[in-house]
Parts: sequence; C-alpha cells; structure tokens
Amino acid sequence: MTQYDYELFVIGAGSGGVRAARMASGLGVRVAIAEDRYLGGTCVNVGCVPKKLFVYASHFREDFRAAAGFGWSGIQPEFDWAHLMAQKNKEIGRLQGVYEGLLNNSGVTLYEQQASVVDAHTVRVGEQLLTCERILLATGGWPSVPDIPGKEFVVTSNEMFALQQFPKRMVIVGGGYIAVEFAGIMHGLGVETTLCYRGDKILRGFDEDIRDFVATEMQKKGINILFNTQIKAITKNGDSFTAQTDQGPTLEPDLILYATGRSPNTSGLGLEDLGVELNNKGAIKVNEHYQSNITSIYALGDVTDRMNLTPVATAEAMALVNQLYTEQYTPVDYDNIPTAVFCQPNVGTVGLSEAEAKSRHADIDVYKSVFTPMKHTLSGLDEKTMMKMIVRRSTDQVLGIHMVGPEAGEIIQGIAVAIRAGATKAIFDSTIGIHPTAAEEFVTMRSPISK
Ligand code: FAD
Ligand code: NDP
Repeated sequence: MTQYDYELFVIGAGSGGVRAARMASGLGVRVAIAEDRYLGGTCVNVGCVPKKLFVYASHFREDFRAAAGFGWSGIQPEFDWAHLMAQKNKEIGRLQGVYEGLLNNSGVTLYEQQASVVDAHTVRVGEQLLTCERILLATGGWPSVPDIPGKEFVVTSNEMFALQQFPKRMVIVGGGYIAVEFAGIMHGLGVETTLCYRGDKILRGFDEDIRDFVATEMQKKGINILFNTQIKAITKNGDSFTAQTDQGPTLEPDLILYATGRSPNTSGLGLEDLGVELNNKGAIKVNEHYQSNITSIYALGDVTDRMNLTPVATAEAMALVNQLYTEQYTPVDYDNIPTAVFCQPNVGTVGLSEAEAKSRHADIDVYKSVFTPMKHTLSGLDEKTMMKMIVRRSTDQVLGIHMVGPEAGEIIQGIAVAIRAGATKAIFDSTIGIHPTAAEEFVTMRSPISK
C-alpha cells in the first residue's frame, strides 16, 4: 500500500480517534490524525473529566454540613469559582500534554488542523491533500439547542467549562445526563437551580423506579424541578434573563443552560458530496464493522450516535483496529454496558430495566431496597439510597442492577463484571458481603417485592 501517504487517516483526536490511531500505529500501520480544537476531544476538554472535577467540588458543601454531625465545628467555607476553574484548566492542560505525548511516542503523525474528506482515499488538511488507504471519522458530537426566540442568550455544556461569571440563579433545560449532572453540580456549589424538563420523568431510558427516586432525592436537596415545562422565549434584562414557559410562570435566572442533546459532528467534512450515508439525525451510518457505504471510510464513537460514552468509543476503536490489522477480531458486545449519571446521589445501572425485562420474559422477580446510608445516621442529611435487582425466575439469571446512592458508579462497575459473566441470583446470595458497606445490600436481598 505504499502508493498512499498513510494507510490510516483518522479525523478527530477524541476518545475513539486517539485510541484507534495509537493502536494501529503500534501495529506498524502508517497513521495520521487531524484535530482542529483540542487533543483528547470532548471527554477530556468539555465532558467526563472536567465534569467529574466539578462534581467533586460540588459535594463539599454537603460534606461540610455533614461534618457537624460527627463533631466538627467552626467550618465556615467559602467557594471560589475562579480558583476551581484555574485548577480544572491546569489539569486539562496536563492531560492534553499526555495525549500529545502518547500520539508522538506511538509514531502517529499529528495535524493540528481541520480535515475534510475529498474522495474515498484523499483527505484535505489545510492546503494539503493527503492520500490514504482508509479514512476513520471520529469527529464526535456537538450540543444542539432548539430554535426558540432568545436562543442566542443560552449556554451549552461547552460554555459551562469556561464560565467567567458565576451565577446566583440558574435554569437548566433538559432531563438527560448533562442536565441532571449539572443540576447537581450547580446546586451543590450554592446556585439556586431550576431544572426545566419537557416530560414527566427525568432520565428517559433508565428504570422507572430510578427515575422517580433520583428526582425525589434531587428535590429534597433543594433543586426545583419543573416537569412538563418548555421554555417558549427568552429575553435579556440587564444582567439577567426572562424565560417564558408554556405553563405560565416566567423564570428570572442569570444563566440558562440548554442540555437538550448532542448532534453528530458531520458538517464541513465533505460527506454529502461523496454520498456518505447519514441517518435521520445526521449520524454516519455504519455496518457492524464500522464501515460506511463508502468501503474505505469508517466511523465510530459519537459521530455514529449509538451509545455516546467514552468507553464505548474506545472499545469500538480497538475492535476496528483489531479487525483491520490483526487476526484477533472481537466485536463490541453492546449488551450490559454499565453507565452512571454523576448526579447527587449518583445513578449507576447495568442490564435491563424492570420494564425491559418484563417485556421480554413473563417470569421476572424484582428485589428492591431503600435505606438510609450509614453515614447519614449522624450527618443530619436526609438522603436515601435505592438498590434494585431484576432476576429471571426460570434461569435465576440477574438481568439488571440499578442503584441510586453514593458512589453508585464505582459499585456498579464491579457488579457489571458479574452480570457479564452471567451471574445468577444464587451466586449473588452465596457471595459474602463486605461489612459495613452499602454495596453488601446487593448480596443480602432475600425476598422479591413482586413476582
Ligand atoms: P470526541 O471525544 O467528541 O472527539 C471528536 C474530536 O474530533 C474532537 O476533538 C473534535 O474537535 C474533532 N473534530 C471534529 N471535526 C473535526 C475536523 N473536521 N477536523 C479535525 N478534528 C475534528 N461519557 C462517559 O462515558 N462518561 C461521562 O462521565 C461523560 N460525561 C460527559 C459530560 C459531558 C458534558 C459531555 C458533553 C459528554 C460526556 N460523555 C461522557 C460523553 C463522551 O464525552 C463522549 O461519548 C466521547 O467523548 C466520544 O468520543 P468520540 O471520540 O466519539 O468524540
Ligand atoms: P440526552 O439525550 O441524555 O438528554 C437530552 C435531554 O434533552 C432529554 O431529557 C430530552 O428530553 C431533552 N430535549 C431534547 N430536545 C429537547 C427540546 N427541543 N426541548 C426540550 N428538551 C429537549 O443528552 P445530553 O445532552 O444530556 O447528553 C448527551 C449524551 O452525552 C448522553 O446521552 C450521554 O450519552 C453522554 N453523556 C454521558 C454522561 C455519563 O456517562 N455520565 C454524562 C453526560 C453526557 P426527552 O427525554 O423527552 O427526549
């Protein structure tokens, strides 16, 4: 394949693109990657990493309050947004350097420029035309905001990570991962927070009990959730905004965040001219081998809009590179992918919801436990934990596990291994608990609540 400048040209140095480029280069493939914004992509710069740092920051307010119940006094905390931002920026800068080092050390040629596709084997980078045997599109997604009057006054998650002016009152629109996580972050940091959701239950797609429980816990903490409410128009009044809702009341926040989903990043890539097929949401259509209808053009991660999670993008990258350049292809198994929402308390989940399980099988047992975590017996905080297990009676197989509670993401990661290994309820029951933990509840749930 020496007639090409590169064997693989990757567009987008985010979670999926960097993993694919590094791995392929490590296998001796001649690889280049183009990135026009930030090395590490969404996750590192305006996603998982800075979000989780903000989540940690926001927890302290409750922790300071809780400390009093354990005998600590004299704590008079003050929060400094500028300091948090500077710390966050320092860490993101460090990570960008790590990504650059990883690419350089693995022999990938990096173009820090925008790239587009000219034909099935040619990429344009700035003024240069570069030929390649295969092209991998890993261009991610971008926040999408509905077209309402005053749209220009709102921010998206991108701007939240560069916010100069810390708000006093904030409205967050949406009821998905980003809206719910930012509601927890901003409330925790002391902002009067209203979540405005168009439906009657946040976190569509999650188990119904989880959706109800997490909303109640958020409300108990003081987050104002407006269900069945849409904003019709926004106007600016000096330093604040007036958001008119379809339910009558107007909101007067000084910051409005729209977290109403993300669209695949496909514009400007030259895909229309080439006839690369997109679905009705603008995502690149690929087959089970991540191949588009143009056989030399592949795509993975958020630009294909399937499960928009970092570990999924990196798993897809490894599967693709193995498939193209090794003998050991193992496809990604999209069943039982665990996920967490880093709201407060956390949501963690793996496998089927109760409704999904019941739609597939008639013999479902549900185990559920709601309790006060030990820490809150003295903390004075009114926060409950919920755990739920979905079991198929005839096979005893555990089909789904769901949790709302502290560190649910950490706990469910371990549980996911058991679920993927096909653990039965009997295996859970015969596992000795670690005491005293919340997670031990998963091995001591004895009686189903419904048959
Ligand atoms: P990206 O990481 O988005 O990378 C795409 C890259 O392509 C970008 O760097 C972009 O600049 C570049 N690019 C685009 N077009 C071009 C072009 N024409 N030329 C050159 N470069 C280009 N996932 C989790 O698993 N856990 C979390 O906690 C989590 N939190 C999140 C929080 C937020 C606020 C957001 C927005 C997302 C979060 N995600 C989380 C999702 C996760 O960030 C994405 O699923 C993941 O980053 C997708 O990786 P990707 O490689 O597909 O795309
Ligand atoms: P989501 O798709 O999760 O949620 C979008 C929300 O916006 C939904 O509640 C949706 O309502 C609502 N919505 C959509 N369109 C409109 C509209 N026109 N007007 C009002 N509301 C609207 O997207 P996010 O932006 O929250 O996050 C994008 C993706 O990023 C996630 O799906 C996830 O894959 C990933 N992510 C993962 C995280 C993690 O792993 N912890 C954290 C953050 C993001 P409805 O439900 O009614 O459709």
